[in-house]
Amino acid sequence: MAGKAASVDPDRSAWDVIVLGGAAAGENVAQYATQFSDLDAVLVEAGLLGGECSYWACMPSKALLRPAEQLSSGQHVPGVSSLLAGRELDVPAVLARRDTVVNGLDDTSQVQWALGAGIDVLRGYGRLAGERTVEVSLAAGGTRTLTARHAVVVDTGSCTTVPQVAGLAEARAWTSRDVTNMHEVPRRVIIYGGGVVACEAATWLRALGVAELTVVHRRDGLLPRCEPFAGRMVADRLREAGVRLLPNRSFAAVTRQDPRDTGVGLPHGGEVTVELDDGATLTADELVLATGRTPNTQDIGLTSVGCPDGGFLEVDDQQAVRGVDGQWLYAIGDVCGRALRTHMGKYQARIAGEVIAARAAGRPPTDEAGRPLSVAAGHRGGPQVTFTQPEVGSAGMTEREARAAGVDVETAQYDMAALAGTFVMQEDYVGRAELVVDRATDTVVGATFVGSGIADLVHSATTAIVGRLPLSVLWHVVPSYPTASEVWLRLLETIRAQRAAQPRQ
Ligand SMILES: Cc1cc2nc3c(=O)[nH]c(=O)nc-3n(C[C@H](O)[C@H](O)[C@H](O)COP(=O)(O)OP(=O)(O)OC[C@H]3O[C@@H](n4cnc5c(N)ncnc54)[C@H](O)[C@@H]3O)c2cc1C
Repeated sequence: MAGKAASVDPDRSAWDVIVLGGAAAGENVAQYATQFSDLDAVLVEAGLLGGECSYWACMPSKALLRPAEQLSSGQHVPGVSSLLAGRELDVPAVLARRDTVVNGLDDTSQVQWALGAGIDVLRGYGRLAGERTVEVSLAAGGTRTLTARHAVVVDTGSCTTVPQVAGLAEARAWTSRDVTNMHEVPRRVIIYGGGVVACEAATWLRALGVAELTVVHRRDGLLPRCEPFAGRMVADRLREAGVRLLPNRSFAAVTRQDPRDTGVGLPHGGEVTVELDDGATLTADELVLATGRTPNTQDIGLTSVGCPDGGFLEVDDQQAVRGVDGQWLYAIGDVCGRALRTHMGKYQARIAGEVIAARAAGRPPTDEAGRPLSVAAGHRGGPQVTFTQPEVGSAGMTEREARAAGVDVETAQYDMAALAGTFVMQEDYVGRAELVVDRATDTVVGATFVGSGIADLVHSATTAIVGRLPLSVLWHVVPSYPTASEVWLRLLETIRAQRAAQPRQ
């Protein structure tokens, strides 16, 4: 095995592991493949090491949402509310803090981390060029052909989907990169989409002073992948905040005066006019696309290894790409289309890294207990938090998904406002929780929590689901008083009461 060089030797062409795309998941797979093995790895990155999450997605969005949540919470607690009544966010300070959180779009610290971990970094755009081979168009100019002794891992992520609508591409609408890295708050904004990115962006845009904000979405409700009550509660709050929601509509055509490439986060031209499919017309100063994600797989040389260009890469439970012989090509993160969240990509990366190290050493890929390494358990409990007001947190399956999967389910809901823990937080607290229980095993297969401050509650649900803890065990998992986690006890009591009320068979 070659040594762990701290910088890339210009004549070097072979590594044990080549990672195409150095997002957080890419960093993780390189770390897990190399840290307890003799393997070495190189990250090939076309943009910033750390990827979307660090600079253009999770981190800046949460930095923009946090002050909005703090102000709103304070405005609901007597003793503080009188100090904050009618106050608005200090927009320049919020944007400056966002810039701090994204390190001013400078990835030096992440490069230092990689080099410190013995992982090489090559700046450039990579494409597969046959088995175990990657050709890199170097950022510094020229090309370089790399060979992987053991594995190539694709972590090229995803970008905003631009729907096929007349005039939309030409209008240069804002993508998630612009709205998270905005430098100027437009007065009138239209958001197209009703999922997580749309709902979070609507929350911070309104809090930062967008005067006219309209959300156009194609479904009946917001957050269509969550329990329906979650979308309804978020919609109620957005409406209260003055956001106009237009469900069951789509764009028919878009026109824009003087569209221009002004850079990320600045208005991309003049007034935008959107014609909807019902004939209505909307105008705004900026348009934000939150219309889903397209995997970055169009131009990474997939046909050279027998896979079609474009589309999500299908992987097995060890993250090896299906249809490619020899177990040398892996994919992690958004490109797999399995769970488009940073923590799930990083989880896939940890498993893939250990699988690669084991296979390279000629060992079967198993954990310390001798069980096969697989992402199946983690995906069963896959958590997600949407940082809207109220927050929406979930783990596992929704009731609809569980039924579609053939699970005989029983559900229980509870009003989170009825807990002592949330009452002391805020007297007018709004929230709700639901458990989805598999009757056959008497275990939780899904959980949803809606309310302020529920984000950290989700991990308890993930633990229950992945650990397949039966309700008889959960009865002995005592929640602290007074906290929001008391909802677990209330949900179990609700299930017990429901069962007691059922006629005996
Ligand atoms: C607005 C927004 C907010 C979000 N908030 C959250 C959140 O709070 N929590 C959460 O878990 N998830 C969140 N997500 C989702 C999360 O950002 C993604 O799931 C995550 O970033 C995907 O990581 P990835 O490893 O797949 O790749 P990405 O982060 O997409 O990065 C891919 C990297 O590959 C590089 N690259 C691409 N092609 C090549 C190539 N050919 N050669 C070399 N380099 C290449 C790119 O430059 C990039 O750095 C959010 C998404 C958005 C849009």
